[in-house]
Amino acid sequence: MSSIKKIGVLTSGGDSSGMNPTIRSVVRTALSRGLEVVGIKNGYEGLMYDYIEPMNASSVGGIINLGGTILYSARAPEFIEPAGLAKAANNMRKHNIDALVVIGGDGTYRGALDFSTIYNFPVIGIPGTIDNDISGTDYTIGYDTAVNVAMEAIDKLRDTATSHGRCFVVEVMGRHAGYIALEVGIASGAEDILIPETPTVIENVIELLQRGKKRGKKSSIIVVAEGDEIGGGIETAQLIEGKTGFETRLTILGHMQRGGSPTARERLMAARFGFIAINALLDGRRNIAVGIWKGEYTYTPIADAVKKHPKIEETDLALLQALSI
Ligand code: ATP
Repeated sequence: MSSIKKIGVLTSGGDSSGMNPTIRSVVRTALSRGLEVVGIKNGYEGLMYDYIEPMNASSVGGIINLGGTILYSARAPEFIEPAGLAKAANNMRKHNIDALVVIGGDGTYRGALDFSTIYNFPVIGIPGTIDNDISGTDYTIGYDTAVNVAMEAIDKLRDTATSHGRCFVVEVMGRHAGYIALEVGIASGAEDILIPETPTVIENVIELLQRGKKRGKKSSIIVVAEGDEIGGGIETAQLIEGKTGFETRLTILGHMQRGGSPTARERLMAARFGFIAINALLDGRRNIAVGIWKGEYTYTPIADAVKKHPKIEETDLALLQALSI
């Protein structure tokens, strides 16, 4: 028999579409296994300041298709301090919470690691970030919706780019990671992508655009991750227009990529991650983050999940180049 009787669930850091179906899966799996569940609002802030409420099956009704997070999210710098962690531990004891399920990115995992190391509360992480930059998993909740939102936006931009014979530079999210840029670039038929993981040689981009124009291309799309070393969308658009003379327009997709109704894949992964997280906890796993890697579920120590490993597939880079001749 597991010693865990009551769990708390929270969402933290940048919100991502798919957090709601993840909460739903965590809560209902836990209830189905006989656990009590409380929801902690505003991430670690709510744990420190006692924004804690019981949850039942109805608390998560009607949210499977909603973006955002019904538990809200916050950045809580105080949680990094010993005094903040102590406040959170007091509330865990006050509410008799035996374990925490945290849904968030690497910052959220760092907080979980500190908390579990110092206070010995079991913590399970579920990767929730549009950036897909967590080690030990090739999927994070929010990623598929973000890619689809960006792809739909680029499809629309392509219509106007073609009508006017323009080059469009589209900046997508990704301060440190180019996964969104890479996959949306392939899915929307972009001429090129500029990402932080690979060196950007603007002369090569220019040559590609000029070659395309010569063979009669009506429009070109360059997708740039906000964290590319070239500086992002503004700098890229200026460089391209300056060096080619092509009429170039910039669109920064920004926070719209975090929102919207979760895609089917998102909801499936949310359901799976919530389910395996609770089962892992009841099977005695501690301080791990769930994930999936090449089709197999993974249980990575949180201490390893916070270490960054580039996951960009060389094959995907090669295919993008092959398809944009
Ligand atoms: P995203 O990747 O979408 O930005 P995230 O989870 O990385 O999400 P952060 O704002 O970095 O978002 O982290 C969320 C919260 O986790 C912080 O507000 C803070 O409370 C806690 N946290 C972050 N870094 C640490 C750390 N080094 N030690 C302890 N707690 C941390």
